[in-house]
Amino acid sequence: MRGSRARVVAIFTVILALIALSTASTMQAFRDTPARPATAAALAAQQRQAAESPEARTERTEKAMEAAKANTGALYAFLREMPKGGDLHNHDVGAVYAETMIKFASHDHLCVDRTTMALTEPPCKQGQVDAATSNTDPALYRDMINAWSMRDWNKAKGTGHDHFFDTFPKFGLANQGHMGAVFAELANRAASENVQYLELMTTADNAESIGFASKFQWNDNFSVMRQQMLDGGLQKIVDDAKKNLADWDAQKDQILDCNDANLEKRQPGCQVTIRHIYPVLRAFDKTQVFAQLLLAFELAKQDPMDVAVNMVQPEDWLVPMRDFHLHMRMVNFLHEQYPEVHIALHAGELAPGMVPPEGLRFHIRESIEIGHAERIGHGVDIMYEDRPHELLAEMAKRNILVEICLTSNAYILGIKGKAHPLAMYLKAGVPVALATDDEGVSRSDMTQEYERAVLDQGLDYTTLKKMARNSIEHAFLPGDSLWSDARRFVPVRECATDHTRNATISAPCKAFLKGSEKAQQEWQLEKKFADFELKF
Ligand SMILES: [Zn+2]
Repeated sequence: MRGSRARVVAIFTVILALIALSTASTMQAFRDTPARPATAAALAAQQRQAAESPEARTERTEKAMEAAKANTGALYAFLREMPKGGDLHNHDVGAVYAETMIKFASHDHLCVDRTTMALTEPPCKQGQVDAATSNTDPALYRDMINAWSMRDWNKAKGTGHDHFFDTFPKFGLANQGHMGAVFAELANRAASENVQYLELMTTADNAESIGFASKFQWNDNFSVMRQQMLDGGLQKIVDDAKKNLADWDAQKDQILDCNDANLEKRQPGCQVTIRHIYPVLRAFDKTQVFAQLLLAFELAKQDPMDVAVNMVQPEDWLVPMRDFHLHMRMVNFLHEQYPEVHIALHAGELAPGMVPPEGLRFHIRESIEIGHAERIGHGVDIMYEDRPHELLAEMAKRNILVEICLTSNAYILGIKGKAHPLAMYLKAGVPVALATDDEGVSRSDMTQEYERAVLDQGLDYTTLKKMARNSIEHAFLPGDSLWSDARRFVPVRECATDHTRNATISAPCKAFLKGSEKAQQEWQLEKKFADFELKF
């Protein structure tokens, strides 16, 4: 009995090995390497690879990615495992998936309109049902997901732009009271695809500053208006925002068991570093925009968890188009009061035909020259700006990074392939990094952004690696960079002789890393790349 069973197992093993061999030879060169080599031969191979120059290892990895391109799933698997640094452009409420928000809405017994799928507070009126009904009504569940995301969207149902932005007011209520769970989902997803750092756009004050603005009259003198708002109780909102961020972060840690004494119980998301950016809603009236901006600058100044100011909402809408220049002047004024606060701005998230040609001419330039943006979100219409090549050269010289959101641009603007300016940015030497924008609404993730960069934009591994490194180099974390030359990634003197795979770090390098949160993240990324590239 035991003998015949052993024979069957042996035959089965041979068949499996044959299948594996044929698959490996035809499909891809990419393979998972066990953490510890199983055989002496594997150990020798790994030692040989470790002795190679970093350039040779990168080249070998490049070849593995080229081979993986033969199959989309193989490419996804390769890219998922690739270290991707940080996601610098991520709206937290647009990043959580509809399925999760349905759970929140069901838990809170919010009402959902059966026609529009918009949520409202209970009690439910005619035409509305308890969101929890979706647990036993598959058609409702399906329709809620489709209305709250780009799943199943097609052009016959309206523009991608409108469907995309219409999702937010529909599901908006769901996230209230659940931000810790939102952070937990995003952290775990980031960890699962080797993203180590997130800068989430988080409305930390629950938009209190918009209501606060109604107590004030518009005044063309920004200085007077700022003082009136500071005297009128803005600090209370800053304090609320700080408390919210701390509470939500603690809830996230609790959900992920990040403080459990048993390290094995801690979920992967605990390893992901999260910081926040306050997203000012630019489609509101000018007093409300000013109040939000002032809150955003004060918060970034006072709370190390909140690292920058941004301005969001569709640029083609009436108010953002009409008040764009005024908004940049407000940012300019506040930058003078708070020069240490980082600024990233959505700019040029526009395509020909969405606005008159004159509307495409100046948003990116003004965001940099008047708004002091250190990073530009999207930058899609750059070639339609005045003197675009001059602007590209200026961005390269001033080291302004562009957060490239390929999936979002394809859905919202219909811009992809050759119509996308990514190749122009790369050619001009403008630093770029891939970002997700709203991965929940888009039904995407960071890996799929990398996949689009390869399949739609034709990027190679070396360029992707540079973008991952850029994402940490341009993160708004405090501290000096690990790189003395961040274009060629030459380390600072203190760490020049160190290697991330060495068991020990030299004393000067250790001291340098200790003094810089940014350099710590960069070191961690280099370590991940060294491990990743040894697999090929
Ligand atoms: Zn965005």
